[in-house]
Formats: sequence, structure tokens, C-alpha cells
Amino acid sequence: MKSGFVNIFGQPNAGKSTLLNALVGEKMAIVSPRVQTTRHRIKVFLNDPGKYQIVLSDTPGIIETKYKLHQHMMDAVQSALEDADLALLLVDITSDWQQVDEIFSRLRLKVPALVLLNKIDAVRTEKLDAAVDFFKGKKYCKEVIPISALEKKHLDTLLTTILRYIPEGMPFYSEEDLSDLPVKFFVGELIREKIYATCGEEIPYQTAVVVNEYAEKEQLVKIQADIIVSRESQKAIMLGERGSRIKEIGTLARTDIESFIGRKVFLELFVKVRPNWRDNDRQLREYGYR
Ligand code: GDP
Ligand code: MG
Repeated sequence: MKSGFVNIFGQPNAGKSTLLNALVGEKMAIVSPRVQTTRHRIKVFLNDPGKYQIVLSDTPGIIETKYKLHQHMMDAVQSALEDADLALLLVDITSDWQQVDEIFSRLRLKVPALVLLNKIDAVRTEKLDAAVDFFKGKKYCKEVIPISALEKKHLDTLLTTILRYIPEGMPFYSEEDLSDLPVKFFVGELIREKIYATCGEEIPYQTAVVVNEYAEKEQLVKIQADIIVSRESQKAIMLGERGSRIKEIGTLARTDIESFIGRKVFLELFVKVRPNWRDNDRQLREYGYR
């Protein structure tokens, strides 16, 4: 049996969360067209009992440190670098390859890496060939694999290749689980995704979600969560006119949570103001960033 750890790296928007979701077939990592949606390391398991267990982890995008929150995100990238059997370096093929190459070179990878050229659905063959040539000879690159995470193209090739690079061994986690994180975590992430989907540019970055209650009742699951913002003005935006926005967030999130856990959900959302939570160590811990 094969068993090992595989980490996905790449710039914000390269498609890390989309790839992870496509491989797992469940909506585990939230996807958004905006950058920095992923704040935590998420470990998910690809299980084929008796054959393999691949422990995949998504990482926050590689970014400059600005707030303490960002520092924490980069710490997560660094720790991921050190404990993997294989790294997947994801490239948005429509982005600046030179810049991507500089970032990958600076990582000083100690583990073998596959360069995945993502979003091939969005470019012509000539551009794809040029990108393969560009990355093929790089020091950090064992193999180049073109994929489309969105259209689930060449993911079987990817899986076969991954299995060649991870060691023989027993599974590290239960083969019945999909992830090492509790359902509560994914519930919070699904709510956060709806904030990204419904709010203007600035607000989502200033927001955290705390799931306070997850209670399995006979007919449904009762969930209560707080949306934390930094200012009163943001609270007004989050609520919307006569509560219209928070209602929309709640409806969208409930639908996704129901399909994720396969049960009916009663979802209650409150908006709370906590000034400067992103620079406050205690609050970062409380919101699950430590
Ligand atoms: P992350 O920041 O690296 O986790 O990127 P996401 O997975 O959140 O994806 C960022 C954006 O790229 C989203 O709008 C995705 O729909 C889009 N995207 C991801 N993979 C592909 C792909 O294979 N083709 C195209 N055309 N778009 C993609
Ligand atoms: Mg992501």
C-alpha cells in the first residue's frame, strides 16, 4: 500500500482549492475568484482502501506579510514545505511564468515537485507547449503535467504520477474520513465563502466566522455562527438593507451546508463588531488561526 503527504503550492488564484475539490470530489476548500480566500491549512484524504492514502493539503497563497494574519498564513506555507513527500507546484498558465518561477526557486524545496500547469482550458496549444518547455528544465521540477482543475482534465494522469512519488506504508488516518478537520470547520468556511460571494471588495478580508453551536437534532442540525467584523460600518454593510444581505448569506450557506453534511439545517447568523481582530493574538486564536 502507498501512503504519503502531498502539498499543493501556488500563487493566489492559481486554482489550489479548485484542484483539491476536484480530486476529493467534495466541496472541502472554499473557492473564490478573489485572492487570500484560504487562510488555513486544510488536510484532506484521498482513500482507496488497501491501495493508497494520499494526504493532500491546500495552503494559503504565497503572499507578502502585511498583517499578523498574513504572517500566520506564510508560517503555514513554510511548515507545509517541511513535512511533505511531494509538492505540487500549481501554475496559472495565463499568469506571468517568470514571476512564478522566481517564487518557486525562492522556496528552496527539499522535496520532489511536480509542476502543474493549470487552466489549460483557457489557452491555445502553442502557449501550452511553450509553458511546458519553460518549466521542464527548472531545478525544482521533476515533471510537468498540464491540467484543468475546473474541467477535471488529466486528473487521472496526475493521480498516477503522484502515486509513483509517495512511499509504501500504512495509512496515517482512518480510511473512512475525508479530513482531519471537524465538520464545524467546513461549516465556517462555507459561510465565509458566501460572504465573499455577496459583499463588496474590502469587507471579506476584515471578516472571520466562528461556529458556536453545531447540534444534531432529530429532524435537523442546528447551527449558530457569528460573523466577526472590525467596524460598525462593516456591520451595517453585512446586514444590508433591512437585513437583506445577511439573509442572503444565510440562505446560500444553508443550502451548501445541507448538501455537504447530507442533512437539513437550521442556520442562525449574528454579526459582531470586534475592532482590530486581525492584529490581536488572543482573538486570532479564538477564531481558529493558531
Ligand atoms: P486558489 O487561490 O489557488 O485556491 O484558487 P481557487 O481554486 O480559489 O481558484 C481561483 C479562480 O480560478 C476561481 O475563479 C476558479 O474558478 C478559477 N480556476 C481554477 N481552476 C481553473 C481551471 O482549470 N480553468 C479555469 N479557466 N479557471 C480555473
Ligand atoms: Mg484557495
